[in-house]
Amino acid sequence: MRRKLVVGNWKMNSSKAGNKALLEALIPGLQQETSDVVVCVPYPYFAQVQTIAQTSKIKWGAQNLCANKNTALTGAVSAAMLVDYGCSHVIIGHSERRLQLHETDDTAAARFTAAIDAGLTPIFCMGETKEERDAGSTEYIVGRQLDAILRRFGPETVAKCVLAYEPLWAVGTDVPATPDQAQEVHHYIRKRIARCDENVAENMRILYGGSLNPNNAAALFAMPDIDGGLVGRCSLNANDFIAICKAVDEG
Ligand code: PEP
Repeated sequence: MRRKLVVGNWKMNSSKAGNKALLEALIPGLQQETSDVVVCVPYPYFAQVQTIAQTSKIKWGAQNLCANKNTALTGAVSAAMLVDYGCSHVIIGHSERRLQLHETDDTAAARFTAAIDAGLTPIFCMGETKEERDAGSTEYIVGRQLDAILRRFGPETVAKCVLAYEPLWAVGTDVPATPDQAQEVHHYIRKRIARCDENVAENMRILYGGSLNPNNAAALFAMPDIDGGLVGRCSLNANDFIAICKAVDEG
């Protein structure tokens, strides 16, 4: 039985006052939830989030890291620094970074292994564009992105991460994948892992992300290969995020 997980991706939306209000609403609101909850916050707020959330069930993580360890690299943040602030998770390969900051399968793989080496759980994102879906290339694209870690590091290492299917046409658009569309790709991902290791595939948590909201969450989470969600905009609103976490608990 795979444990459900909901991850909030705050992106570049935080402020000290806003974080405090949001966490002070989430902590009591999520007390009864049995699934796991993580918020991925901008670097400057780790200390604040750690102080507020450390005695709650909410874990926190980062939205990126630098693959290098202890080198001279201005502006970079290492895996060890994330660990120093109690982070448990880190998002790797988010489509916004792949598209706008030119991250590739290779650089995502390097970040992935840096996270694993530091004991962090990577939340590894994959997904196709609308053009790629329309061209019938969804499985090819997602398979290639998955292979960047599966072929390179093997199923035992991939077992230490959480995967997220985030179709680019659904992220930030108000056009979520239908439950059937998402299930089809989640099933494909699990099947591809099963070719290497059936046990790892069975236990792998695969999150759906892309315009999740309190109205569509239950139907998506009811799908057999969807193990929770990666939530952008609705993670900034306490009522919406709590409703999504409750939906995953019931799913
Ligand atoms: C995301 O950024 O990972 C995301 C899924 O965003 P949204 O929920 O806003 O579509």
